[in-house]
Amino acid sequence: MYRQLKQELIDYSKEIGIDKIGFAAADPFLELKQKLVQQQELGYASGFEEKDIEKRTNPALLMDSPRSIIAIALAYPSKLEGAPKGKKGERRGLFCRASWGEDYHLVLRRKLEQLEAFLKEKMPDVQMKSMVDTGELSDRAVAERAGIGWSAKNCAIITPEFGSYVYLGEMLTNIPFEPDTPMESQCGTCTKCIDACPTSALVQGGQLNSQRCIAYLTQTKDFLPEEFRKHLGNRLYGCDTCQTVCPANKGKHTLNHEEMIPALEEVKPLLEPLLSMSNKEFKERFGAMSGSWRGKKPIQRNAVIALAHFREPSSLPALAALLHNDPRPVLRGTAAYTIGQIGGIEAESQLFKALEREEDETVVDEIKKALGQIGSVL
Ligand code: SF4
Ligand code: SF4
Repeated sequence: MYRQLKQELIDYSKEIGIDKIGFAAADPFLELKQKLVQQQELGYASGFEEKDIEKRTNPALLMDSPRSIIAIALAYPSKLEGAPKGKKGERRGLFCRASWGEDYHLVLRRKLEQLEAFLKEKMPDVQMKSMVDTGELSDRAVAERAGIGWSAKNCAIITPEFGSYVYLGEMLTNIPFEPDTPMESQCGTCTKCIDACPTSALVQGGQLNSQRCIAYLTQTKDFLPEEFRKHLGNRLYGCDTCQTVCPANKGKHTLNHEEMIPALEEVKPLLEPLLSMSNKEFKERFGAMSGSWRGKKPIQRNAVIALAHFREPSSLPALAALLHNDPRPVLRGTAAYTIGQIGGIEAESQLFKALEREEDETVVDEIKKALGQIGSVL
């Protein structure tokens, strides 16, 4: 009976546009538990994840008598076709691929709700609990066990069909579905992702130091530590480097879902207008994207750092406005940093002017460092 139901569910998942589905036993994730404990001890955790390691690794704490976990994957596009090009005076930033289109949490949740409704109709007593990203269970550990793809050295799940460009979600159930077989790693001796990581965040194959990972750092709200600023490039949210260099992703670009097609001006926006954007504008333009979940401040801070990457002199007036008038020390101090990177007489004069009035110690420090960068004598 369960074998037939599994097949019906697989068929239904295809009907509703789920690109891949797999089934796993709901046993505790002991290997993951060990890894997470080690991650915490080493100080590698990001702090965004569920704090309770037991809950993250023991499905029995999330539901009475769980018997299986259904894992799903939706493939997303990897190419920005027809994207506007940045140029001198019109520099652009970039949101990572997982932020293109509608917030994937919503897209996946809708699919999982459809699966739930399907199962409920077949088995009215079924117990189900669906999760996407922010749920207790690790999407990747579940996907690996369910045979969706292999757990790769870049810490992503790689599917042979769509590469690692897949969103993952899962549903815990009390139905004893027959589990699928996990996939052997196909990374072999390749180390391209580890070698390409700009901040050496991939400590060893399969382990990530989130505190050094640009994808995490773009989401923080405080000052970005100086050692990472130069590595940010024009990234506004997230980092795709360890995925784009991966040979398994070569040529993978899936356009199966209309809601995932990126709005080009939003995922690659002009940097300067972001600096003076109101909360309302931010919500209207970026609110539907997953990359907006931390609000306007980190995106603006990253836009300021991206202008340092380009050393864009035409943005000096906008940066000076931030330096003198923005109520947020992080924005004033980061603007000082970028002005220092751009350099020149006007930059120096703006920094001296700000130094006379600035009262926040950290910002004063940033202004002094920026003046030092220009070569000014204090
Ligand atoms: Fe390194 Fe970027 Fe991958 Fe993080 S997302 S591990 S910073 S390449
Ligand atoms: Fe594995 Fe190489 Fe891809 Fe890294 S770049 S995930 S080592 S195949």
